[in-house]
Amino acid sequence: MSTESKTNAGLFARAQKVIPGGVNSPVRAFRAVGGTPRFIARAHGAYMVDAEGKRYIDYIGSWGPMILGHGHPAVLEAVKKAADDGFSFGAPTEREIELAEEILSLVPSMEQLRLVSSGTEAAMSALRLARGATGRSYIVKFEGCYHGHADALLVKAGSGLATFGHPTSAGVPPEVVQHTMVLEYNNLAQIEEAFSLHGKDIACVMIEPIAGNMNFVRASVPFMTKLRELCTKHGALLVFDEVMTGFRVALGSAQSLYAKLIPGFTPDLSVFGKVIGGGMPLAAFGGKRAVMEQLAPLGPVYQAGTLSGNPVATACGLATLREIRKPGFYEALGAKTKTLVDGLLGAAREAGVPMVGDREGGMFGFFFADQLPQNYPAVIATDKERFNAFFHAMLESGVYFAPALYEAGFVSAAHSADDISATVAAAARCLRKR
Ligand SMILES: *Cc1c(COP(=O)(O)O)cnc(C)c1O
Repeated sequence: MSTESKTNAGLFARAQKVIPGGVNSPVRAFRAVGGTPRFIARAHGAYMVDAEGKRYIDYIGSWGPMILGHGHPAVLEAVKKAADDGFSFGAPTEREIELAEEILSLVPSMEQLRLVSSGTEAAMSALRLARGATGRSYIVKFEGCYHGHADALLVKAGSGLATFGHPTSAGVPPEVVQHTMVLEYNNLAQIEEAFSLHGKDIACVMIEPIAGNMNFVRASVPFMTKLRELCTKHGALLVFDEVMTGFRVALGSAQSLYAKLIPGFTPDLSVFGKVIGGGMPLAAFGGKRAVMEQLAPLGPVYQAGTLSGNPVATACGLATLREIRKPGFYEALGAKTKTLVDGLLGAAREAGVPMVGDREGGMFGFFFADQLPQNYPAVIATDKERFNAFFHAMLESGVYFAPALYEAGFVSAAHSADDISATVAAAARCLRKR
């Protein structure tokens, strides 16, 4: 039972014998930054502890779900109680209704939703529903947005709008992505051109409203306004992938922020994951009743799941949502995130290092660059060498940022003012060293 002798390097070597690359999701392998991934033994509050007993202030939060920090007492209790009553039934439960009611009460654009087990599954199902409901095949996505690993969404831009995309993964036949158009984020001219060429065939436009899979890039208000106008005009559905931003950037999710800026704004379909499961495998997609009723068993669009609405996962998600809807939660979270980002930028300024950053609620991003990137090419043009050196120096100092410059960061309710100031102090030291 002794863990003293275990090292991250030893575990990584052992893992690589039985698991491809030693990891069950590629980003965990640290390939972008190099070095040995930390094998996590346990986590409490704002901290994770690795196999060697080293403690880190955690700014990944399981890539977003841990908005309350790790092991929040109310959530832990709900999960234990649910587990006592059984792990899975394959039959409906009252808690699924409660969770659906809770989510719908916070996201007025949705009248119904369906629960699934991962963001990938939710985005893939939303896509099928959009195609089924419109009777159209073409879809539009944006370079740098990630919507999970369904075949039709693993696509990079072709050489022109007429040529459509190319698969970004082996094993995805070109025919499977022949209806997927990949456009530049925040580029109004491209989306107008796409609709003028193919408007009557476009089933949906899928977007991360604040793109967290290319660090942190907001869709501009004119761009979002244009997307909404074009979708409405051409009868396409606007699908918000809020797997990351959902209940993370605001209680009403990113769509509530755009609704404040664009009168009457709502998406047609929304996809959630991460926070709504509180760290358990749970995700959802939803929209207007007329669209959602196209799903089986009512309608012709098939979708199903053995573990969908799992009783332990729904208990975890429900307990999490009940905490975050308490008054003042997002004000406190947002203030902490602001202190962190302001602190990082201040430290960089003092060290004479060009850095820019942005944040919303408990989500943030920073870039080694002079200007906030507005699209994927601009993100990958930021200083990668500097980012990687900073990442490793911070990790060494006990601060765990995302191990790639194209990932967002997350602050939880468990991060204390001391955690934030210790992080900023570490950043000042690491940035000065260069
Ligand atoms: C994480 C993420 C997904 C995929 O969710 P999984 O649960 O990892 O399958 C989809 N869309 C966005 C925006 C995400 O951040």
